[in-house]
Amino acid sequence: MKFIFVTGGVMSGIGKGIAAASLGRLLKGLGVSVTCIKVDPYLNIDAGTMGPYQHGEVWVTEDGGEIDMDLGHYERFLSQDIPREHNITSGQIYQSIIEKERRGEYLGQTVQIIPHFTDEVKRRLRSIGERSKSEVVIVEIGGTVGDIESLPMLEVARQVGTENGVLFVHVTLVPESNTGEQKTKPTQHSVATLREVGVQPDVIIARSETPLSEDAKRKIALFCNVPPGQVISGHNVDNVYRLPLVYEEQGLGRLLQEKLRLRAKAHRMGEWRRVVEQMDGARQRVVIAMAGKYVENTDSYISLNEALKHAAASLGARVEIRYVDTEQFEENPEAVENLRGARGVLVPGGFGSRGTEGKLLAIRYARERRLPYLGLCFGFQLATIEFARNVAGLKRAHSTEIDPKTPYPVVDILSHLRDVKSLGGTMRLGAQPIKLRPHTRVHHIYKGQEVILERHRHRYEINPRFIPRLEDKGLVFSGVSPDGRMEVLELPQHPFYMATQFHPEFKSRPGHPAPVLRAFLEAASHTRAPVKEN
Ligand code: GLN
Repeated sequence: MKFIFVTGGVMSGIGKGIAAASLGRLLKGLGVSVTCIKVDPYLNIDAGTMGPYQHGEVWVTEDGGEIDMDLGHYERFLSQDIPREHNITSGQIYQSIIEKERRGEYLGQTVQIIPHFTDEVKRRLRSIGERSKSEVVIVEIGGTVGDIESLPMLEVARQVGTENGVLFVHVTLVPESNTGEQKTKPTQHSVATLREVGVQPDVIIARSETPLSEDAKRKIALFCNVPPGQVISGHNVDNVYRLPLVYEEQGLGRLLQEKLRLRAKAHRMGEWRRVVEQMDGARQRVVIAMAGKYVENTDSYISLNEALKHAAASLGARVEIRYVDTEQFEENPEAVENLRGARGVLVPGGFGSRGTEGKLLAIRYARERRLPYLGLCFGFQLATIEFARNVAGLKRAHSTEIDPKTPYPVVDILSHLRDVKSLGGTMRLGAQPIKLRPHTRVHHIYKGQEVILERHRHRYEINPRFIPRLEDKGLVFSGVSPDGRMEVLELPQHPFYMATQFHPEFKSRPGHPAPVLRAFLEAASHTRAPVKEN
């Protein structure tokens, strides 16, 4: 088993995850089996309890992990499922060491970062790598070189690096001065810091606004002890999926192959290139209004944004997402008319009450004005509430998540979670089967499949008590889990009105869009603006 460690320099948020995923795609293009692991130095057990503002989206794996969003990049770039155990956090390591210590497994010893913490990380890296049956394991180390908290993880990389078949890739930032000159000093400093902990990078990927100049490349090579051919320009591209191709053009695929002594079994970047070109060549623009809460940090909906791109590309279109802050509708209900500018309304997943009444106004607008609507998870629950209130006459119907005293709790806590107090990892998570009702729209969208598997992350569900009343009024629950939970709703008389309790975005990949998103965008691309009401 061979390892590539990916570290980050200068600052966080420069796209280390996408760089690691792109390396994986390059290797896959050579026919080499590969997987990615994210090592996070923070003390949380997983990303499930972190705020989307600070940390971006929480990614949900097939096997029910609530994980750092970099695993989403890995899945999208590698087109393969990445299990939850591929996200190792310091919190997990400390937890297991402390449990062992209490059991007496270290009797007589002092338990220390080196070797106990580091050994535990190494053990996990190896066993995960073996289980994945990959020739190459790419390990991305979270945080920035120089952080106190990432030191033990870098020590792991150093120790593993003393063996054969290990490569270090350092992703760093090259900013531009006012005069447009690319400045390499921050990179020099971060490589110096990396060397202080005993790691010499083999490859440096420089993130820059424009392609890295020869001059900057030479300087980095000279000061950082790396041959110029191993300094790679990771300049901004308007389509992230182009990045593996940008690397490939600079010979990085060949370099990885030589350095790791891999036998190339294929040259398959052509398929990837076709998918990227399809995305870039799309002309028709489809404007979608997205009514979310975390509109300031678009990383909060990164999988959904990516999934919409994949779906649009398959239709020869590009999607333009307009984020709408629904709190403005609460202050000024007239403002909901602004949705006329969009060809579809999308309400994504969410938690808590802020902006909820505004979202309900947006959903009502889409339903009444026959604008395509797609609701995902929270957007599914809210569509049910809107229908209950405004069609079924259940005034003040709500979810007990938002209004515990509602007279009509049409959305209520999942029965098996009623007595669960702890918030970490306790939702209904991961892939769950859904039976589709024959002859419904969703059944058609999934090409007649009877049972589908989609990923979930929720604590509330449609209260079965209200289903007959809602269905009497025309709401169709067209997907139901084998244990009887409502999963999909639709309005047959509407041009496109659908919502799912599951998150279709987590299974979307370039070239393999999520069926529900594709159908929604297709409907949106045929829609005209609703006429203004007077
Ligand atoms: N807050 C809702 C629930 O817990 C929806 C969750 C979501 O949208 N991911 O069920």
